Amino acid sequence: MTFPLSGVRSFPNLWKCSPYFGLSPGHSYFFLTDYCGVRNQQRWFSLKRMSPQSTKATNVPIAKARYLRKGEEGSNKQMSFDSPHLFAAGAAKRRSQMNPQSKDHVLSPVKNSSIQLPEKPLDSKEWDKLKEDFQGKANFENWISSQMARCHSPINVAKSLLAWVAAKNNGIVGYNLLVRYLYLCVFHKQTSEVIDVYEIMRARYKRLESGGYSLLIRGLMHSDRWREAVMLLEDIKKVMTPSVKNYNDCIQGALLHQDVNTAWNLYQELLGHDLIPMLETLKAFFDFGKDIKDDHYSKKLLDILLYLRNNQLYPGESFAHSIKTWFESVPGKQWKGQFTTIQKSGQCSCCGKTIESIHLSPEEYEFLKGRIIRDVIDGGDQYKKTTPQELKRFENFVKSCPPFDIVIDGLNVAKMFPKARESQVLLDVVSQLAKQNLQLLVLGRKHMLTQRFRWRKDEMEKVQKQASCFFADDISEDDPFLLYATLNSGNHCKFITKDLMRDHKACLLDIKTQRLFFKWQQGHQLAIINRFPGSKITFQHILTYDTVVQTTGDSWHIPYDEDLVERYSYEVPTKWLCLHQKT
Ligand SMILES: [Zn+2]
Repeated sequence: MTFPLSGVRSFPNLWKCSPYFGLSPGHSYFFLTDYCGVRNQQRWFSLKRMSPQSTKATNVPIAKARYLRKGEEGSNKQMSFDSPHLFAAGAAKRRSQMNPQSKDHVLSPVKNSSIQLPEKPLDSKEWDKLKEDFQGKANFENWISSQMARCHSPINVAKSLLAWVAAKNNGIVGYNLLVRYLYLCVFHKQTSEVIDVYEIMRARYKRLESGGYSLLIRGLMHSDRWREAVMLLEDIKKVMTPSVKNYNDCIQGALLHQDVNTAWNLYQELLGHDLIPMLETLKAFFDFGKDIKDDHYSKKLLDILLYLRNNQLYPGESFAHSIKTWFESVPGKQWKGQFTTIQKSGQCSCCGKTIESIHLSPEEYEFLKGRIIRDVIDGGDQYKKTTPQELKRFENFVKSCPPFDIVIDGLNVAKMFPKARESQVLLDVVSQLAKQNLQLLVLGRKHMLTQRFRWRKDEMEKVQKQASCFFADDISEDDPFLLYATLNSGNHCKFITKDLMRDHKACLLDIKTQRLFFKWQQGHQLAIINRFPGSKITFQHILTYDTVVQTTGDSWHIPYDEDLVERYSYEVPTKWLCLHQKT
């Protein structure tokens, strides 16, 4: 066994006298498992989780601040006409800011504040002193190294800690400390230090845990030893499926070093594992593509766009720019890209083309209806939501009525305007819709017929004259009834509730059905955005077009997420990249 110590720079007295270097690989492995039991791994993983967020975390307060300022401008207007669409990116965020609950996730201060993290390298006496001052129950070395990793301490400070630990322990530094040091080297992009730690780990351990591998891969991909990162990926594969991050790092490394075949092969492998690639990975292919004039490569990039379409994924702002730049770089095709929005009519404001309709095809509709009835309404927890008797009573009731045009969640709608009486609001909504000759169904609870103050009897009677009504037991959940009645009435039927029904989406087993449900919901859920005293209710228009990556061959329309707008999973972007060929 050769010792790579000659290549290790600037580790004064570190590891030189380690007795472990002389042991067989089997012993090294024992050493690893010994020092790196399950508990320690969990500690490590919790550390790892914060690392990729580190840059983003610093940006969030800025985004928040900007958003708050935006929000403040409109906060006195209550809900006005220019309020964002129910499903528009950022709308939920804005809604939550109307009922502000300060939920700022500021990093908690360093616990055990008797200790100040050192800003300069310490000598062993100073480390001894610091350890004496430490009052926590935890192991000092473990605690201080994790705090240093957490606060991104400078490399030389961390190194002086390792030197001190090594000097006390015959040159041995535990795995956890080593990995945290590696984390700092990767974080500070100190590639030569990464390589040093890599050599030490290689010499000492036969296998690492996935956190160590992931850091090494990330650290090595920028160096000319990036192929060894790909070999580490092979090592991970022996025990588990590598993460999308591991693939991302290797693919970026391969592209950085002009090895396109390796990059595509890794990408195929990633898809083969049913992993969803990071958008960063896909962006890297586009960025690299602008210097490549090769039809085969272009075809693969278009496949990536279709992948985004099929998986209802949206690029971020900088990825959208990369896509635009790549299209415009294709020789001879004269692509022109512009950032734009889509009009209510579903036409692109830039080129005037009509965006794909939100409406489900008859096949999609039947498929979704079947799945919702099976998974949500008749699903395993049916008894929790309602009793079978009540469900049967409801089914018979629906069968006895003509198909409805609009199904109203009575309780939810009535509580939409807290200052007004519930039965008055419900009556206003029902009266206004009934004037348009629409077949209405109001779903309610039995208590709505008995309470005198919030639910006036005369108003409820007027509601019942203008709409079919079904009053469920007070303990039942309304949504399954709402979904059933709406779907059973057909593709034209809309529904009104403020509820976004995320729980039901979660009940649907596969991603395809979840996406169809979301598409159906966007096309069928009516939102009330205003009510004037009397009866005038303003409904928000329903999106007529589908927010998804799409092409007609000579044009592409690609919705994208803006950097500063926080979009929830049940919202869709409002900004688009329009690409068309100049004629
Ligand atoms: Zn367009």
